[in-house]
Amino acid sequence: MDIALNEEQRMITETVRRFVRNEIRPLERDLDPDAVELPPGEADRLREIVRGMGLYNLDVPEEYGGPGMALTTRGLVAEEMAQHRAGLYLPCYGVFGSAGLVQLYSGNEAQKERYLLPMLRGEKKGFFGLTEPSGGADPARAIQTRAIRDGDDWVINGSKLFISGADRADFGLIFARTDPEKGRQGITCFIVDTDMPGFEVRRVVHTLRSGNYGTELSLDDLRVPHGNILGEEGKGFSLANTALTRQRIPYTAGCIGVAVAAQEMAIAYAQQRETFGAVLATRQAIQWMIVDNEIDIRTGRLLYLQAASKAEHGEPFRFEAAMAKLVGTEGAGRVVDRAIQIHGGIGVSKDLPLERWYRELRIRRIGEGPSEVQRIIMARDLLSVGSG
Ligand SMILES: Cc1cc2nc3c(=O)[nH]c(=O)nc-3n(C[C@H](O)[C@H](O)[C@H](O)COP(=O)(O)OP(=O)(O)OC[C@H]3O[C@@H](n4cnc5c(N)ncnc54)[C@H](O)[C@@H]3O)c2cc1C
Repeated sequence: MDIALNEEQRMITETVRRFVRNEIRPLERDLDPDAVELPPGEADRLREIVRGMGLYNLDVPEEYGGPGMALTTRGLVAEEMAQHRAGLYLPCYGVFGSAGLVQLYSGNEAQKERYLLPMLRGEKKGFFGLTEPSGGADPARAIQTRAIRDGDDWVINGSKLFISGADRADFGLIFARTDPEKGRQGITCFIVDTDMPGFEVRRVVHTLRSGNYGTELSLDDLRVPHGNILGEEGKGFSLANTALTRQRIPYTAGCIGVAVAAQEMAIAYAQQRETFGAVLATRQAIQWMIVDNEIDIRTGRLLYLQAASKAEHGEPFRFEAAMAKLVGTEGAGRVVDRAIQIHGGIGVSKDLPLERWYRELRIRRIGEGPSEVQRIIMARDLLSVGSG
C-alpha cells in the first residue's frame, strides 16, 4: 500500500479543510452548542459552493451523477469534514449531499425510480431498520420480526429499536425473518412506506447525541407487496452486512477527524496556558498525553487507509475494516478525553466543542457494530471458528 497522498488527494483534502475552517467553523461560533442545522439560507449557499468544488453527492456512484470518489480519498475527505463541533454525526451539516441508503442501489428499476432517485433529489428520506429490542450486536440471531407470505403480499409483525430518523422518513428498510429454519439465510429486506397501515413510530429514544434521536418502531400486521422485497428473498442479511463493512471506513475516518481537531486544540492550549510558573507544554505529563494522542490518531488513520486500499484493489477487507473501526473509534475517544484533561474546566464547558465530541464519540464504540463485534469478526478469521 502506498501511504503517500497523490496530487488529487492532496488537492481535495486541502479544499475541504479550507471549506470547514472558512465556512463551517465561523458559523458555529454563533450557533447553539447542540445545534443540528444551519441558519436558514446558509445550507443552500454552502451547497452551491460544494457543487462548485465538484464534491457534491460524494458517495453517489458516477452513473447517478456523483464524482465517483475512491474509498481512500473518501476516507481522507471524511476526516476533514468532521473537524468542527457537529462534525461527528453531521459532517458539514449535510451540505455535501447524501448517497441515501446504499442498499437501494441493489434495487430493481421500479424501486430505484420510486425510492432511490427521489432520495438523491432530496425529496424523500429513508431509515435503516435492522436492530430490535432483542439485540443489535448479533442481528442474524436476534431478529424476531416476522414476515409471512400472503398471496402477493407479505405481512410483517414485530418491532425495531434505535432506528435513526424513522419519525421523519417517507420510507425505510425493514429486515424481517421470512424463514425461521434458515438462520441468517432466512432474513429478507423489505422496503416499507411509513404511511402504510400497521407502521407506527412508538416513541423516540434520546441518546448522547446532540439533537438527534433514535426511534422504536412497532410493525403490526404491516402488509407489504412482494415487489417491495429489496434484493432476493433470504439475502437481506448479506445486503445489510456488505454495506456495513464498507461504511466502517468513512465512519472511522470521521472519528479520526474529530481527534485531529481535538489534538490541535490541546497543543495550542498547552503552549499558552501557564500553571506553577511555566506553560503546560513544558510538563512531561502533558507532553506524553500529546504524544499518545498523536499515536492514536496516526494508528487509526493508517488502519482505515489500509482497509480502504484493500477494498479498492478488490481484496477482502473485512478484517482490516473491523480493526480500523475498533482502533479508530476507541483511540479517538481517548484523544478527546486527554484533550479535555489538558484544558481543565473549560474542556468540559459548552464553550468548546470538546464536550460534544466526548459525548458523541462514546456512541461510536457501539454503533455500526460494537467493539466486541469487531473483535469477534477478527477472531473468526484468525482462529477459523464461530463466535460461540
Ligand atoms: C445513536 C444510535 C443510533 C443507532 N441507529 C441505528 C439505526 O439507524 N438502525 C439500526 O438498525 N440500528 C441502529 N442503532 C443500533 C446499534 O447498531 C446497536 O445498538 C448495536 O448494534 C448494539 O446492539 P445492542 O444495543 O442491542 O446491544 P446487544 O446486542 O444487546 O449487546 C450488548 C453489549 O454486549 C456486547 N456483546 C454482544 N455479544 C458479545 C459477545 N459474544 N462477547 C462479548 N460482548 C458481546 C455488545 O458489543 C454490546 O456492547 C443505533 C444505536 C445508537 C446508540
